[in-house]
Amino acid sequence: MLPPYASEPYSDFTDPAVASAYREALEVVAKASPLNAPVIIGGAPVDTEDDIVSVDPARPDRVVGTAGAGSSFHASQALDAAWDAFATWSKVPAPERARLVHAVGDAIDARRYEFCGWLTVEAGKNYLEAEAEVAEAIDFCRYYAHQALALAEPLPVHDFPGETNESWLVPMGAGVAIPPWNFPLAILAGMTIGPVAAGNTMVVKPASNTPIIGAKFMEAVVSAGIPAGVVNFLPGSGAEIGDTLVDHPRTRFVNFTGSKDVGLRIAARSAVVHPGQMWLKRAYMELGGKDGIIVDETADLDAAADGVIRSAFGFQGQKCSACSRVIVVDAVHDAILERLVDRAAALDIGPPEDNHAVGPVVSAAQHRSVLDEIDRGRSQAELVHGGHAVDGDGGWYIEPTIFSEVASQDRLGQHEVFGPVLAVIRADDFADALDIANDTEFGLTGGIFSTDDERIERTRQEFAVGNLYINRKITGALVGIQPFGGLKLSGSNAKAGGPDYLRLFTEMKSATRKL
Ligand code: NAD
Repeated sequence: MLPPYASEPYSDFTDPAVASAYREALEVVAKASPLNAPVIIGGAPVDTEDDIVSVDPARPDRVVGTAGAGSSFHASQALDAAWDAFATWSKVPAPERARLVHAVGDAIDARRYEFCGWLTVEAGKNYLEAEAEVAEAIDFCRYYAHQALALAEPLPVHDFPGETNESWLVPMGAGVAIPPWNFPLAILAGMTIGPVAAGNTMVVKPASNTPIIGAKFMEAVVSAGIPAGVVNFLPGSGAEIGDTLVDHPRTRFVNFTGSKDVGLRIAARSAVVHPGQMWLKRAYMELGGKDGIIVDETADLDAAADGVIRSAFGFQGQKCSACSRVIVVDAVHDAILERLVDRAAALDIGPPEDNHAVGPVVSAAQHRSVLDEIDRGRSQAELVHGGHAVDGDGGWYIEPTIFSEVASQDRLGQHEVFGPVLAVIRADDFADALDIANDTEFGLTGGIFSTDDERIERTRQEFAVGNLYINRKITGALVGIQPFGGLKLSGSNAKAGGPDYLRLFTEMKSATRKL
């Protein structure tokens, strides 16, 4: 019997004892780094010719760890190991599978702040952001354990005279998980452990910027007692081994979360049946966003400004759910803009280890790319706040940046910057705001601040997003409470943390016996 599911609460870091416990965990992490994280295939570490060096984005001269860089050869080996493990794991009764998957969540929970600490130094997350992610990883394990039990129930079919008829779900085989760096623990864990809970086996390739926290997840998998080969860990460059993993005739399904461009490439490649391949691959794509919040003239303007700022600049805007366009009706445009600028100016910038509101972006490449977008934006719109890199120990800091008078169709209004950059778009009225809100190829998260019930209802029905939030921030979906995944080019709407997620990694069988 599993304990009932409830999402993990967060700590109160204003309590000095709690903050001090976090700092102690950071010391443990500092002593343990640089960590060596090998490729793990069939439960055994594997030597590789090359390494991936993971550094602290707040102090890039500090090496957090070194991960083995898997090659195409290792990718094939890992798939073989996953298929070998599938022979037994797929037959483990659902209650036992669920127990082990739940135990992975418990293993992470037991080392909660330590895992937070690794996220702080490897991904640049402050205490709240890191803990929210660790809590989400725990939630995924526990929630999917429960879902595995539900999935094992026979499916209802009608009687037919002279026969017994039954239908049930079976796991599919060895799949590949390719997660992004921005939730390098929670998304990696959810994309891997969900299919595993359904009876599949996995090869997981962490993002190149953040392999070390992925290695910590593997420690939790092992300590929970998940058998060797059920989860194989294959750090490596997406550009170098991604195609092998996706194209491989032994890959049964691909579970991808990342950028639109990479996702579309994987979706197309997954559709090709290669020699020796005995199935049509399934491929799930959870992609980018250009997420908007509407603010109308009936809104509580302070609450709206708070919600937009938290959505836009939490974790430096590097969330697929981050607000990157706020669409404000003309009557309150200037009042909102003033509030946004004041609040952005009040955000302190500094090392995540010291729990500042705004930390560094994840990498030198991301730093360059965001600053390039800001420079391009200067000629498209009015820069009203920020816009510069901030120096500090060589860390990749960028000021929270706000542009106003952005035209929806301009690059600032359409392109996913994936950094601390907010575009403010002026709308004539609510109807115009709703049109503008839908004027993007993406449809991941969206929000409205309004007190007008009719407009809220219209937004609920007509704003084409997978996750809509009314009068609150648009980030921070909770597992089992707000199933997460987008519409349009934001992905295949797999709805992570939702009741149908595990179903995606199964096939249905029916059997009829003549009486
Ligand atoms: P990315 O597409 O660059 O990389 C994602 C993963 O794909 C990484 O593991 C990378 O190594 C791998 N990869 C790169 N090239 C590949 C290839 N040719 N073949 C196979 N794999 C390859 O994305 P990112 O920069 O890591 O993450 C940011 C993006 O992820 C943003 O667009 C963000 O919106 C999106 N995202 C979406 C969700 C969601 O749930 N919809 C959640 C988080 C992030």
